[in-house]
Amino acid sequence: MDNHYDVIVVGAGNAGLVAAATTAKSGLKTLLLEKHNLPGGSASSFVRGRFEFEPSLHELAGVGTKEKPGNIYQIFDELGAKIDWRYEYNTFRTIAKGVDGYDVKLPAGIDAFCTEMEKAVPGCEKQVRALFALAKKVDDAIAYITKMKGKPNPLVMITKHGDFMRVASHSVEQVMDALGLSEKARDILCTYWGYLGVPTDEVNCMHYLAMLNSFVVNGAAMPYKRSHEMSLALVKVINDNGGEVWFNSEVTRFLYDENGAAIGVEAAGKKLYAKEIISNIIPHNVFNRSDADKIPQRDLKLANARKFGISVLTVYLGLDCTMEELGIKDYTVFVTTTGNTRKQYNDRLEGSMYIVNCLNDVIPDCTPKGTCSMFFTMPLFGSDIPKELKPEQYKKYKNDLALRYLRDYEDLTGMSIVPHIEEISVATPVTFARYLGTPEGTIYGYMNSGWDNMLARISSEKEDYTIPNLTFCGGHSARSIGYSSTYNSGKIVGDRIVRKLKGGN
Ligand SMILES: Cc1cc2nc3c(=O)[nH]c(=O)nc-3n(C[C@H](O)[C@H](O)[C@H](O)COP(=O)(O)OP(=O)(O)OC[C@H]3O[C@@H](n4cnc5c(N)ncnc54)[C@H](O)[C@@H]3O)c2cc1C
Repeated sequence: MDNHYDVIVVGAGNAGLVAAATTAKSGLKTLLLEKHNLPGGSASSFVRGRFEFEPSLHELAGVGTKEKPGNIYQIFDELGAKIDWRYEYNTFRTIAKGVDGYDVKLPAGIDAFCTEMEKAVPGCEKQVRALFALAKKVDDAIAYITKMKGKPNPLVMITKHGDFMRVASHSVEQVMDALGLSEKARDILCTYWGYLGVPTDEVNCMHYLAMLNSFVVNGAAMPYKRSHEMSLALVKVINDNGGEVWFNSEVTRFLYDENGAAIGVEAAGKKLYAKEIISNIIPHNVFNRSDADKIPQRDLKLANARKFGISVLTVYLGLDCTMEELGIKDYTVFVTTTGNTRKQYNDRLEGSMYIVNCLNDVIPDCTPKGTCSMFFTMPLFGSDIPKELKPEQYKKYKNDLALRYLRDYEDLTGMSIVPHIEEISVATPVTFARYLGTPEGTIYGYMNSGWDNMLARISSEKEDYTIPNLTFCGGHSARSIGYSSTYNSGKIVGDRIVRKLKGGN
């Protein structure tokens, strides 16, 4: 009987780890299966020479401090996962090139942020404050919906959260227009669009405001030892509470009973059974690992109707000089050719938007003495990679792209980066497809736009996923992408399964 569990979680990404830690901590017999030899999915680290790189995390929202804990701090704290948090109290520096361009650095904290916005765009402060007042209402409504476990009272929503309902059915641009924000103020406020991967004339305002507010209110946090520290801390919670984590254990098949209910999986050459299966892997990959007749037509149609989210090209640099020697003064810099996010998105192959991070600005000793690291990121779909590209041409293709961004940043800032490269690693959607196993290398699950937005996903979760005893968590699911969203997703799903199997609240 030892191949029978209460819960099997497939995939040790952020959401899978928190879901498994939650069920294990509640006393449920839990098994977490991960195809790689280490946990985390995107939340990991890798070593080149004397550098340990952060592969994905630019900024983690919603952490806060012990005195003023945010939602993520609480999740880790309640689970007993100890993290050495480090903080960044600037939101971003954003540079738009060109004659009408700007170079603005904005601090965290609503008052400080609004004051700097007023300096950058005189006359905008009142509207920016109105935007944050709206963001607060969005936060309150999300807190209410979460408290009601996704089943809010429609009367309460209409009477108490009317502004939320209006915001949630409009794009960011529509709401900013309604508030009378000028184009320049809007462009600056929309800088974070890349973190959701959808331009602001398309992305749901509720989603964007929740993210913007979270970064501005609390600032961002980073774990001292890369995101690998968070993933390892969660594995420890699972193990300490009697759960099992099997690495090098790819799930190759999902198993169902004659009524179509999920009953187990195949991994590591074994059939493993559980009362509940939680999938941290995208529905496409679950369905491809299931007998076709077990997948309800509606679930299949939904998966096929969705668009895959964006991916990225990333360049990780280990440099043989300090950040001071290079002249770096910021942790996060967004560089664009135009403030308009739709143009940035459309012209992504022309280098219209990229992000540059230097972790040493937040964690000075994250690299050996006398060195520093840089991390370049730009939006790129898997389908942007030329179909005719031959395997032997791939290395040159990605290195040429990487060099173009490095040269562009050197020209823009006057820094001399390339001569100081000691280690370099370049990842593309191909890398993410291989490592995460996602279709087209999406790092953001399904694209969060149009009918497939976060609110629609949360409110129709029951109709969208109908296979009994199979629940999805992670960036592709209801709470959508990003570190905080996926940790939240794991917690919500883990709690739901605990209630289902053990009863109570
Ligand atoms: C370059 C990059 C930069 C990013 N920057 C940020 C940022 O600054 N801030 C932010 O909030 N978010 C950022 N993100 C997004 C964030 O990392 C993701 O949204 C989040 O980590 C996804 O978590 P997840 O739970 O969906 O799992 P994933 O990370 O997708 O992990 C899924 C896990 O399942 C495993 N798996 C897959 N198939 C199988 C199988 N068949 N059997 C067993 N295991 C399997 C995979 O190996 C993986 O470990 C970034 C992502 C990337 C790649």
